[in-house]
Amino acid sequence: MAKVSLKNVYKRYEGGFVAVSDFNLEIEDKEFIILVGPSGCGKSTTLRMVAGLEDITEGEIYIGDKLVNDVPPKDRDIAMVFQNYALYPHMTVFDNMAFGLKLRKIPKDEIKRRVEEAAKILEISHLLERKPKALSGGQRQRVALGRAIVRNPKVFLMDEPLSNLDAKLRVQMRVEITKLHQRLATTIIYVTHDQTEAMTMGTRIVVMKDGVVQQVDDPTKIYQHPVNTFVAGFIGMPPMNFVDSTLTEENGKLYVSFAGTRLALPSAKYDNNTVRAYIGKNIILGLRPETISDAQEEVAKGRETHATFQANVDVLERLGAETYLYVSVDNENLVARVDPTTSATKVNDQIELVVSTDRIVLFDKETEKTII
Ligand code: ATP
Repeated sequence: MAKVSLKNVYKRYEGGFVAVSDFNLEIEDKEFIILVGPSGCGKSTTLRMVAGLEDITEGEIYIGDKLVNDVPPKDRDIAMVFQNYALYPHMTVFDNMAFGLKLRKIPKDEIKRRVEEAAKILEISHLLERKPKALSGGQRQRVALGRAIVRNPKVFLMDEPLSNLDAKLRVQMRVEITKLHQRLATTIIYVTHDQTEAMTMGTRIVVMKDGVVQQVDDPTKIYQHPVNTFVAGFIGMPPMNFVDSTLTEENGKLYVSFAGTRLALPSAKYDNNTVRAYIGKNIILGLRPETISDAQEEVAKGRETHATFQANVDVLERLGAETYLYVSVDNENLVARVDPTTSATKVNDQIELVVSTDRIVLFDKETEKTII
């Protein structure tokens, strides 16, 4: 069983800087866990503590059922893949992959079998006799993965393994690593600052900020039910729109208003005591770009368009499958997603937009925590 547990783990660097604070997580066997957050949030430090490359100041780390606080990295049954693949330039691909096994005095036949098997999985069998300089970036990264696979570790630790690759290769390797996880059925802990990698690869995502875990959930929950404005703004591209608003009640119905617009909140979802406690207060409205659309498009699709407002189109971003409109209304700047096949909108148009009010997220303005 390759469970990994972190219990009340802290990392304080000399001088007292707290890089990781009270980190608690139970990683199940075969999980693909992603640690994600902005630069400096402590994700690499956390991974390095699991690897044993960094001492922990406080707390306990278990791999399987074994407490590993004082176990050296080489005895932790882990394999680590870094962003700079650190291949030995003078060695062939085969020797690069075999190196760790030779050090462990594994018999030659066994080494050959493991390297060939890993090469086959990674589709680099034809490259085994080449030197790293004769490989593309993606191929080198496969060799680095191969070097980890041959060790047959309980847990793979990956620290931004794709960040040196160009955008297209990154997408390709994202799929490759996901397939690899399915095929090897092992536990992977993967660090990235790229929210797309987090969303597409992880079975669960750990969002960190300033050394503190903000939320641990599967990608859908993280996206649909972020616990605070930080998670809501970090996950999703373009990010969620945040709008200052006030919650009001009229004839028993709840409304949120912003920039001269008043939207009725669907009672079934929003009318409860938690939300009602905010009546008369300032709150933050969270609107994902896909919840704001062109009202004309919606009418054409036969949908009802109650919650509409007028905005000016400042910038159009055409991505092919979708178009993003950067619009302004009073002092608010918002991003809306429209269908490029039906929208005839141009820059500087006044456009009527409609909000899917059943998908609004409300945040407490002071704590920035999610109300609903
Ligand atoms: P990045 O995406 O930039 O790699 P990260 O989330 O992985 O960021 P860490 O490398 O874990 O961040 O660093 C967390 C914090 O700890 C940073 O503010 C960093 O400056 C600090 N830090 C890292 N190593 C040391 C050290 N040896 N001494 C003091 N502070 C350190």
